[in-house]
Amino acid sequence: MITASSGARITPSTDTPTTDWRQLWREAVTDAGELLGLLGLQHLAGQLPPADAGFQLRVPRGFVARMRHGDASDPLLLQVLPQLAELDEVAGFAVDAVGDLAARAAQGVLHKYHGRALLIASGSCAINCRYCFRRHFPYGEEMAAAGQWRQALEHLRRDDSISELILSGGDPLALATGKLEELSRGLADLPHVTRLRIHTRLPVVLPERIDPAFTAWLAALPLQKVVVLHANHANEFDGHVDAACARLRDTGASLLNQSVLLRGVNDDAEVLAGLSERLFAAGVLPYYLHQLDRVQGTAHFEVDDASAQALMEALRARLPGYLVPRLVREVGGEASKRPV
Ligand SMILES: *Cc1c(COP(=O)(O)O)cnc(C)c1O
Ligand code: SF4
Repeated sequence: MITASSGARITPSTDTPTTDWRQLWREAVTDAGELLGLLGLQHLAGQLPPADAGFQLRVPRGFVARMRHGDASDPLLLQVLPQLAELDEVAGFAVDAVGDLAARAAQGVLHKYHGRALLIASGSCAINCRYCFRRHFPYGEEMAAAGQWRQALEHLRRDDSISELILSGGDPLALATGKLEELSRGLADLPHVTRLRIHTRLPVVLPERIDPAFTAWLAALPLQKVVVLHANHANEFDGHVDAACARLRDTGASLLNQSVLLRGVNDDAEVLAGLSERLFAAGVLPYYLHQLDRVQGTAHFEVDDASAQALMEALRARLPGYLVPRLVREVGGEASKRPV
């Protein structure tokens, strides 16, 4: 679901691949059998859970192109391929693992931490990550963008301790740029909001989203800007992602990255160090490495705290301090993310 998309559908010409992000979004792979076929892994089709274990497979074709052909343990594939293990019921893994429903301050607004309000700007993502809490929240009715952002802007107006507005989701860049313009017009008379932060996986999974209309909007905002990407492995980067990061930096935005520590994907010092180096090459600094939210259906990705701390120790021993992310966990009801 893409809300409020504007503009006519662009008809692809036969020889030039489209760069229209909405069309690329619609053309994402949503069939697990097709994905396995594209990667030469048809023989795994018998191991898929029925009905994608209740959370549809979705992955843009450009991201599939970065997966290794014939490798069932490719770290990008493991992030999106439905697994039978998702059907296991594991004690301690719940539907609302981080208390989001309790932190709701207005429609689509989560206000947990001092000075920062988070808007669930959109319920959609271009990719469905198997480890995500979103698998249990379609977030259909919880979108801040509904009604021209009215409730969200009202909450910001009432509380002048909020200096930073965070757009999250879902993926806030799933919204049409026109919808973001509507929000920034609403922010114009809220002088206490001086920073805008955007949490998005789109520059990595669908870099075409960082198009001229979007960068023009971001560059013109009279606010400090932070874009927090979400990449978990160096292989998620290619020339298109580098170019998208460069376009984002040209708007004056600071670029950070958050990752989730995932067993089989990046629970390895070599892999995490490679990710930090690759981020820096793209002009992005590592910010957080999250311990998995204990969300039902994701237990097979969990890395225990002792192993996670050993990984951090190994990272500190081989990287400059500014390339070492902070290992944190989200704990419902606390005043910040909790260092592990
Ligand atoms: C994670 C989160 C933030 C941001 O926390 P930082 O430590 O500033 O990155 C803000 N609001 C909510 C509701 C969050 O979950
Ligand atoms: S919210 Fe982020 S982690 Fe979750 S499915 Fe969307 S892009 Fe993936």
